[in-house]
Amino acid sequence: MSKVKAEYIWMDGHEPTQKLRSKTKVIDGPINSIDDLPLWGFDGSSTNQAEGNDSDCMLDPVCKVPDPIRGGDDILVMCEVMNPDGSVHSSNTRAHLRSVAEKFSNEEAWFGIEQEYTLFEGRNPLGWPEGGYPAPQGPFYCGVGADEVFGREIVEEHLQLCMDAGLEVSGINAEVMPGQWEYQIGPLGPLDAADQMWISRWLLYRISEEYGVSATLHPKPVKGDWNGAGAHTNFSTKSMREKGGIDVINEACEKLSKNHDEHIIVYGAHNEERLTGLHETCSIKEFRYGVSDRGASIRIPMQTANDGYGYLEDRRPSANMDPYRVCSILIETTCS
Ligand code: ADP
Ligand code: MN
Ligand code: MN
Ligand code: MN
Repeated sequence: MSKVKAEYIWMDGHEPTQKLRSKTKVIDGPINSIDDLPLWGFDGSSTNQAEGNDSDCMLDPVCKVPDPIRGGDDILVMCEVMNPDGSVHSSNTRAHLRSVAEKFSNEEAWFGIEQEYTLFEGRNPLGWPEGGYPAPQGPFYCGVGADEVFGREIVEEHLQLCMDAGLEVSGINAEVMPGQWEYQIGPLGPLDAADQMWISRWLLYRISEEYGVSATLHPKPVKGDWNGAGAHTNFSTKSMREKGGIDVINEACEKLSKNHDEHIIVYGAHNEERLTGLHETCSIKEFRYGVSDRGASIRIPMQTANDGYGYLEDRRPSANMDPYRVCSILIETTCS
């Protein structure tokens, strides 16, 4: 029987931002479905998920993709963390999205998430002069040339890995701050979008290792006159995508305006450093929506306004947000 390496990936209990952990299980292949994968355990006292005297947590496989790094029949496995008795662990934010997705399945929600991130080499963003600053922002966004963009070989390799893993990645671009990049996942249903976002993040961290570079999702990796890093979340329901959908989108924006604070709580730690009202953001203290407005909380894309249907872009989530929580609250607020 052929052996398969399965990389079990889960979210830990780190505060205020949960991080990814993973370990490898060698199992008898072939693995045809998610149900062929056994439950597994880990030491929750080392991940801020349990006390030392009662430290076992359970890993429940929920999503698997080909492992594009190891290749062959090897796989990456996203897991939910459970308590030893099989109940949902308090750090498990996916379980709630599971119930929300099911409750509102008739809405056919789609998500497209833009993941911005910053590559660091040691204490500096990649390509920045030691202890100093590059030229002011301006030429770097979607730039080309060795003096404009830094880390393209990592970014290209990450894109290819995402595609080889079968992720629905829809594009990449260099960002406004040098060393900062973006990729997009989606549009997909809520669980697929969020699972794929976490797996794509794992691939980003993992492939950066090979280059001695670390990727950070901090929303404001460099203080001062430098763009922060967000995770714009593009969202639509079936009725928003149909003729007359613009009315549904406007209604959704009105509902969002009444729940701004509840959303900000789950839109990522340190987001106040990023949502200042400068650098293409709306202040964290305000809520505004508008067509083509990149200084608004919610942007209605020009195409959507012209067509009279489409989707909205929530520009508030920060790069380090948890897509399970963001997708949950967007559906709950706008569909209730
Ligand atoms: P921006 O112009 O803000 O940089 P991007 O092109 O980076 O936008 O990202 C837009 C994202 O929105 C993509 O991931 C795309 O797949 C997604 N998207 C497109 N249409 C929809 C839709 N109807 N519902 C949800 N997401 C969508
Ligand atoms: Mn974008
Ligand atoms: Mn961007
Ligand atoms: Mn955007």
